[in-house]
Amino acid sequence: MLDTLVIGSGYAGSAIAARLAPHGRVLVVERGRRWRPGDFPRGVVGLGRAYLTARHPDGLWAMRLGAGTGVAFASAVGGSSAVNYGITARPDDHVFDAWPVTAAQLDPYFARARDVLRPSASPRADRLGDKAFLDLVEPGRRVDLENTIDWERCDDCGRCVPGCNRGAKRTLEDSYLALALAAGAELRPGTEAIDHVALPDGRHLVALRPTGGGGGGCEWVTARHVVIAAGTLGTLDLLHRWRLPVGPRFGERIGLNGDGLAFLHDTPHALTSHSGAPISTSVRLPFVDADGRTRTLTVMSGRVPAAALRFTAAALALAAGRLADGDAPGGASTPGSALRRLRDLVVVDGGGALSRSFMFKLDAEDSSAGRARFTRAGAVIDWPDYADDPILRFAEARLRDWAARTGGRVIKSVARLTGGRGFSVHPLGGCRMGRSIDDGVVDDVGRVFDPRGGVHPGLRIADGSVVPGSIGVPPSWTIAAVAERIADDLIAEQRRART
Ligand SMILES: Cc1cc2nc3c(=O)[nH]c(=O)nc-3n(C[C@H](O)[C@H](O)[C@H](O)COP(=O)(O)OP(=O)(O)OC[C@H]3O[C@@H](n4cnc5c(N)ncnc54)[C@H](O)[C@@H]3O)c2cc1C
Ligand code: SF4
Repeated sequence: MLDTLVIGSGYAGSAIAARLAPHGRVLVVERGRRWRPGDFPRGVVGLGRAYLTARHPDGLWAMRLGAGTGVAFASAVGGSSAVNYGITARPDDHVFDAWPVTAAQLDPYFARARDVLRPSASPRADRLGDKAFLDLVEPGRRVDLENTIDWERCDDCGRCVPGCNRGAKRTLEDSYLALALAAGAELRPGTEAIDHVALPDGRHLVALRPTGGGGGGCEWVTARHVVIAAGTLGTLDLLHRWRLPVGPRFGERIGLNGDGLAFLHDTPHALTSHSGAPISTSVRLPFVDADGRTRTLTVMSGRVPAAALRFTAAALALAAGRLADGDAPGGASTPGSALRRLRDLVVVDGGGALSRSFMFKLDAEDSSAGRARFTRAGAVIDWPDYADDPILRFAEARLRDWAARTGGRVIKSVARLTGGRGFSVHPLGGCRMGRSIDDGVVDDVGRVFDPRGGVHPGLRIADGSVVPGSIGVPPSWTIAAVAERIADDLIAEQRRART
């Protein structure tokens, strides 16, 4: 019998497995397969081939479209660490005001997670030109970023998404999962958890099968403790399918972390390099909402991946007229700007207007007003007016202000899907931590509230779904810190049960 079954090998699942493995028998099941350097898709065709469908269940990524939103996620050993930028950032303290756990209580766990993830700043970041630009538009607000990247091996190709083929990005396979396996945890890739029965004595039966069900029957395993860490959508799917009695907040108050991508095109300020180097700097801007609450908008400065320079230069030159924000200034018509744009259409080498353009990835503490709806494909997030969230409007206004002061044209919100849906890779919440069943689905250590009273024995949720809404910075470090705290409590519970 297992002491702990962990479902999902992303930030939460790997952290839990790493901490629990020295204390008992741990099995981690992961729906996705292993992706090694060299395996990751290299172009648009490759990305299409790597799409996860019922006929291609070992695909790397997929997207779910809801009303007003589209959410993309990965399915792989290491969860989304396989495909992400490895940006490791801590939220501002005020974010935790509405949580059932304080910033001070979480700090030791942030420190612990950082020791394992080992993020560091790019040694080349000072040369790229975007720090100087951010200092110009938002003096004193710059926050430089760290990534889980081995900078000596990194060639700044900018293809961290959808996966590093050089092996320079340190995924969870190089950190938490390696620790878990070294401590004796067992990992089963290509295996999905599908069903669950809670036994009267508090143990759990969980049905596992090869992902997609092809060619294999179902195996039931018994575990004293089950930790669901299947990612926000995956966990919503499982709880819905298992028909577990949960509280009324289930599937509510989901944040999309204000994900966005915008450009300031053809400014008078040159970037030293548009090499595609990973995102390494940002500014954090306070936004005061209608209730007087301060929320964080993080504007991260990125560069176009080397492989997409030609396409992006031409697309931006063409779009500068059509997609440019109508309410924004037309941009300083500096001598040569028309020629620079024309050059991008003809020469397309990353020089021209592109070398004077800034790409911004936005993360924001949006209003977390998403709601899960369950379809045959699984959970989708409905939030019809997500794209109009006040903090996203604030972001647009701020970029317009920058353009007015520095020149250049704002090209806003290129991360839009069919029907004007906002696009996100950071869904958070749906099984949020709360002080009681009226406020959350789990308590501050991931125990699942049972509407019949107390909590479901031996069952915890630990991933992005327990984060109580958007946090305004990339979330992996926060998810790992929350999981570290849950692991501590679970170890203590297992110890108590043995004595
Ligand atoms: C393209 C992209 C770029 C990003 N960039 C950054 C960044 O730079 N920095 C940052 O902090 N965050 C980034 N993020 C977000 C971050 O990666 C996620 O928030 C984080 O990975 C979520 O961790 P998790 O543990 O909740 O779940 P995940 O990492 O999503 O892992 C969940 C795992 O569970 C598996 N699973 C699901 N259902 C089952 C089942 N039934 N049985 C078995 N396994 C199952 C899934 O296949 C998946 O591998 C990015 C995300 C994406 C997609
Ligand atoms: S920039 Fe290229 S080499 Fe560097 S970590 Fe990202 S994908 Fe790997």
